[in-house]
Amino acid sequence: MALYAELHRHLGGSVVPRVLWRYFERHSSELISGFAEYSDFEDFYTRPRNTLDEYLELHTLVESVQTVETLPYFIYRLVRGAYIFENLAYLELRYTPYLRTPEHLSQSERIDKMAEIVKVVGQASQLSEYPIVTSQILCMHSRLPYEVNKAIVDLAAQSREYVCAIDVAGGDSYYADRMEEWIRLYDYARSLGIKTTGHLYETTAGCYPQLLPYLMRIGHGIQIPLLSSELLKDVARRGQCLEVCPTTYLKTGTLEDIRQLKLVFDRCFEAGVDIAICTDNAGLHNVRLPFEYENLLTYDIISFEQLQACQDAAFRHAFAWPYSQRPVSLLNRLLKPDHEKVLATKD
Ligand SMILES: [Zn+2]
Repeated sequence: MALYAELHRHLGGSVVPRVLWRYFERHSSELISGFAEYSDFEDFYTRPRNTLDEYLELHTLVESVQTVETLPYFIYRLVRGAYIFENLAYLELRYTPYLRTPEHLSQSERIDKMAEIVKVVGQASQLSEYPIVTSQILCMHSRLPYEVNKAIVDLAAQSREYVCAIDVAGGDSYYADRMEEWIRLYDYARSLGIKTTGHLYETTAGCYPQLLPYLMRIGHGIQIPLLSSELLKDVARRGQCLEVCPTTYLKTGTLEDIRQLKLVFDRCFEAGVDIAICTDNAGLHNVRLPFEYENLLTYDIISFEQLQACQDAAFRHAFAWPYSQRPVSLLNRLLKPDHEKVLATKD
């Protein structure tokens, strides 16, 4: 039994199509009235989009039904699936809490409601029958105003029991006009001791070297090795890890062929930059973490040893993994208690 760490998964994109379909059938059948049967819906939901913007639009469909009342329903199924089918020991779940609050409220009322969302997500993730260490990353959003994004950073600081870090999401081509704001927000977060990641260098329109020093991990970051490999030595020096989500780049039209990722992995390994392999939106893609691993092996993008190095890196760069070792050592102690004694007598 191998246990994995998932560092980059969106709450909105984590609902698998079958669970979403069942939810719509029971509660909002008007939203699926245009689909004759489930397979049509699944095709629509999981098919590749032409651009990152088009792809992100799909998130709003799920966000609209993920409310304070329904979040426990979706999170229960998410954690159950992650435990049973993905062997996850560790999961960081990310989302923008503001987008889970009722739209008809004023901005300040919505900001006030965010803390409740974080608490509901945190409590719903703790399931004794599916024991996974979970934590939340709160995403600032490129389309939200400064006040809301600052409130998200403040909320992260006030909710350390549930939240391990902040992120920025919503399409990396939209950061440019407000670059000073993003730097100020990240600087502020770091001053509060909050850990940081950010969707950056995902697409060719999202390359902002000035933001890199503020991040502890880089959400995607694939354009660094592809377009600006001269930056890799600084990324390595800063100990930053790339969160690479292979299926995403095909679904968003960022890459045409998954084999283009070989260059990403080769250059990162060569420069000593760690990579954690992640799913991004396992539900939306209908691709779970073990299949991301398997695909990379199947296409000869990485070797088995490199895969294991990436799996190790995921635990090393996890913001809230509470142990110094990855689960293999813990399991050895638990499942083979005599193993260590045998080793000890050999010394
Ligand atoms: Zn993402």
